[in-house]
Amino acid sequence: MGLATYHKKRNFSQTPEPEGKVGPPGGGNEKGLLYLIQKHDASRLHYDFRLELDGVLKSWAVPKGPSLDPARKSLAVQVEDHPIEYGGFEGVIPQGQYGGGKVVVWDRGTWIPAGDPREGYRKGHLKFRLEGVKLRGGWNLVRMDEKNWLLLKEKDDAASTR
Ligand code: MN
Repeated sequence: MGLATYHKKRNFSQTPEPEGKVGPPGGGNEKGLLYLIQKHDASRLHYDFRLELDGVLKSWAVPKGPSLDPARKSLAVQVEDHPIEYGGFEGVIPQGQYGGGKVVVWDRGTWIPAGDPREGYRKGHLKFRLEGVKLRGGWNLVRMDEKNWLLLKEKDDAASTR
């Protein structure tokens, strides 16, 4: 996907968001592949779930946020790839700009794909472990159609039905 759509949607003289560029494919982070969630209080509050892959952050907007309950399926709507630099962004996007509203980092850590993540992404099934502060353990992202995926917690010690 690259960052063309990300750049096209934004006016960087008006938004504090980073312009960014595509990073090295192997990832610049020696700790592993970046995972993060930003809570985004836009016209509709949502949680932006992001996974580093091939020098960008693959991104999904999760309207209700992730659930630790393996029985709950969270809708995750794929949005444009974001630059890796976006993972450090917190601030207020001005009203009238794309995604206007407050952005805070809600969770951040690394993700460990099970198997080849490129193949998983292509096939529409990413299986992975999260090592964040709030979210940990096994997760799946499963594509339903062009834009809509489901984010699912696996049954493990990090799951909870509360
Ligand atoms: Mn958002």
